[in-house]
Amino acid sequence: MPEGASEYAQAKMLAAIAHVGSPILAVRAKLTQAANPSASRPAIAQAVVDVNGHPVRARCAAETMFEAVDLLQERLAARLVRTRQHGGREHRTGTGGAVASRENRVHGHHPGPHQPPIKEPHILRQKAFSLGQQTPEDAVIDMEAMNHDFWLFTDTTSGADCIVYRQGLTRGYRVASAGEDSQQYEAGPPVERELGRHPRVRRRRGRRAPAYHGARLRLPRRLGHGSRMCPLPEARRPIRPDLSRTVEHPRALCGHPEHGRPGHRMASDRTQLRFALPGAASRGSRAAAHRRSPTPGGARLGGRRLGGEHVAGTNGPGSGTSRPLRASPARELTEFSGEESPRPTKGTNMANASQSRAYVVGGGIASLAAAVFLVRDVGMPGENIRILEELPKTGGALDGSGAPGDGYVTRGGRMLEDEAYVCLWNLLKSIPTLDDEAVSVLQETEDFNARWLTHANARLIDADGRILDASQLGFTTTDRVEMARLLALPESVIGARRIEDFFSAHFFTTNFWTMWRTTFAFQNWHSAIELKRYFLRFLQELPRIHTLAGVRRTRLNQYDSIVRPVQEWLERQGVRIEHGVRVTDVEFAVVDGGGRRAERILFERDGVPETYGLGPQDYAFITLGSMTADASYGSDDSVPELVRDKRDGAWNLWETLARKAPDFGRPSAFNGNVDEAKWESFTLTMRSPALLKRIEEFSGNAPGTGALMTFKDSRWLMSVAVPHQPHFDGQPEGVYTLWGYGLFVDEPGEVTGKKMSEATGQEILTELLGHFGFGDIADEVCATTVVTTVMMPYITSQFERRDLHDRPLVIPSGSANFAFLGQFTEIPEDVVFTVEYAVRGAMRAVYGLLGVDKEIPAVYHALSDPMTALRALRAVFA
Ligand SMILES: Cc1cc2nc3c(=O)[nH]c(=O)nc-3n(C[C@H](O)[C@H](O)[C@H](O)COP(=O)(O)OP(=O)(O)OC[C@H]3O[C@@H](n4cnc5c(N)ncnc54)[C@H](O)[C@@H]3O)c2cc1C
Repeated sequence: MPEGASEYAQAKMLAAIAHVGSPILAVRAKLTQAANPSASRPAIAQAVVDVNGHPVRARCAAETMFEAVDLLQERLAARLVRTRQHGGREHRTGTGGAVASRENRVHGHHPGPHQPPIKEPHILRQKAFSLGQQTPEDAVIDMEAMNHDFWLFTDTTSGADCIVYRQGLTRGYRVASAGEDSQQYEAGPPVERELGRHPRVRRRRGRRAPAYHGARLRLPRRLGHGSRMCPLPEARRPIRPDLSRTVEHPRALCGHPEHGRPGHRMASDRTQLRFALPGAASRGSRAAAHRRSPTPGGARLGGRRLGGEHVAGTNGPGSGTSRPLRASPARELTEFSGEESPRPTKGTNMANASQSRAYVVGGGIASLAAAVFLVRDVGMPGENIRILEELPKTGGALDGSGAPGDGYVTRGGRMLEDEAYVCLWNLLKSIPTLDDEAVSVLQETEDFNARWLTHANARLIDADGRILDASQLGFTTTDRVEMARLLALPESVIGARRIEDFFSAHFFTTNFWTMWRTTFAFQNWHSAIELKRYFLRFLQELPRIHTLAGVRRTRLNQYDSIVRPVQEWLERQGVRIEHGVRVTDVEFAVVDGGGRRAERILFERDGVPETYGLGPQDYAFITLGSMTADASYGSDDSVPELVRDKRDGAWNLWETLARKAPDFGRPSAFNGNVDEAKWESFTLTMRSPALLKRIEEFSGNAPGTGALMTFKDSRWLMSVAVPHQPHFDGQPEGVYTLWGYGLFVDEPGEVTGKKMSEATGQEILTELLGHFGFGDIADEVCATTVVTTVMMPYITSQFERRDLHDRPLVIPSGSANFAFLGQFTEIPEDVVFTVEYAVRGAMRAVYGLLGVDKEIPAVYHALSDPMTALRALRAVFA
């Protein structure tokens, strides 16, 4: 074997699987060098990848082993892409084998020149083996992934032994079952697993119709099954003879031409390389990969995906005629399909953009971004766009306000990130700063972060006010296994389970968990799906989670640095932002073909009902829910009210809409438990530098460089961040600010003995100073500080455990002219509670509805960069 070949192969396999969204359970590769050097292609490389239980294989021969491996990578990557595109199965493009040949004849297709003549059916070989329990979809997926012509299985629903086979090259599949209840029906194409398309399985006859709904098809039985290869010939029961009746040209029992021949025991092949999770490449293999292929996979550089994402869209507002909804709108609307509509022909709707109007419900960053994309990328005149916001200010959660005397306040302080925030940076590159027309907000942010590097020296502080060594993440083997298991599970299996369902008690005591949860605001009871997405999305942060060195900040708070410049730009384009407008309902009509179009927007302007009617060319972009809805404020000596009765418009609007159609989501999954979702933040406005000076001495971090400090043992689980000063536009010299929050607001504090939710601003400050151990400056600090507190009943509502269909798609199936925005829509792979999610959703909405001929930046996958994956792996095993 040539030196370095196995490392090279390992790196290439990692590159080949890097783009796969589904969990990779195992990769096995085998390199064989023929003993006879005069053979024309003596080097053989073969591999089997277990994609979440579905084997995908490839085999290549070449003159040298490195060439063979290169070919193998290409072939494998192509098959994996096909597998992914088709929801976990790979489509054949070649002749469809015996069954397809017959279909070709029947439907007038002529076999290619090399097609062997059709012979009389005869049985070549008989074998016995045990049938796997699976659904017809899984059987189709396995059959395609293995490139077989048919597949035998036991239907999990009916318990019947079945065979699935192709129905011609393009006409789908047929399933035939054996036994007394025997029946035949069409199956496929199979489901897209994560987001869920309806598996089009139609029973033609027979008594038991399968109850398949959406994507809830995958059963947890795959857990722990390292692979489900071609069934091994370790017979438990003989194949039933009547099954052979349905097969014209059985070449072997599993359909593979080599089944039964020596060496075809795929599940037991001897392999030279085997690894379960991507990222396990050795240094040598990466080096070899880089030496031989400057951009592994061809499309990525340094882990950044260069490709883009395509969104599904609609046929446009003018498509089809519409009729008004009658008495029972819910029944008029189409059932949930989990599919976005096909994207309109590029440019079709854009051509009419100057005659179109857009109504954008909500004035958060998602809405502002949608308006920017409509103007910038569609060319819609700004004066045709109206943003409807109930609050007196735009920006939604990205707020920032106040004055030195009364105190400044932001509800949140944002940590942004280079790699993952691609859509946000795309937006901000077009927006000039307020100070200098020639400098974009993106440029300003990059310059700021180049000067003020984040590197927290005091990420965790213990009960005695000592800085902990946070680089020790504290994992046990069990913790690592549990993390790997969560990463390996598809979302359809995780479902509505909580984080704490996946981990043992020790995991929650680790430094890692304290840092991860306080960086992103996770509670143990939150959705395990969301945690999995965060692991994958921010894997690059794992090795630097103790310093937060990957965090990027804006120069000032996000209202001043992002929202105001965006708003200014929009207003200069003529976009109208209407405040004091609470949208209460949207009326839809059914268009021909069962789709829907938004026809009227109902709202209250300062309490007075009004409507906007949408013409045939018009669009609606509707923000659903809000994490900052019903936020209330407290002060030095008052406590913020916990509002439970949904006074703001955001949730009420979504609830009203959700009653109209099953695919408009389920708001109660998110707003139904205020006590699980709430927490409180606070902003200090200080006229003395005493506290910031002392924090700088304590941590070694100048303001703006220390990211987050967490009091690990505090019952409130309090964290604070000292931003770069000044943090607010116009903040005078000699005035300083600090932002903090507590995750457990109903626990008594160690210093004051009060629950955070019942503490005044000054009491919260006292608690903070106590945890720092700064009692000696307490009098001065309290006397010179204004504290503003904010209770947010829904602040982590987007993390509530949920099912796959609880969030509507950005562009629901059949939508002719409307899309949903915000944190409560479904964007595959991306993570909520981020500005990026809001902006990506806006981009999908605008590009998808109007057929914008531009790519949306792809969701960043740290795993696509072997170096990043390796660094993360090292951190976990350190
Ligand atoms: C405390 C805190 C910390 C955060 N930390 C980070 C972080 O570190 N990094 C990060 O990336 N993100 C962070 N975020 C999240 C980020 O700020 C949000 O995800 C993002 O700003 C949400 O924007 P949005 O437009 O989707 O929704 P929102 O900001 O909620 O905006 C929705 C707007 O629509 C209006 N509206 C809704 N319904 C109606 C209606 N029916 N009629 C009229 N108006 C309506 C609302 O009043 C609101 O103004 C944080 C948020 C908070 C609050």
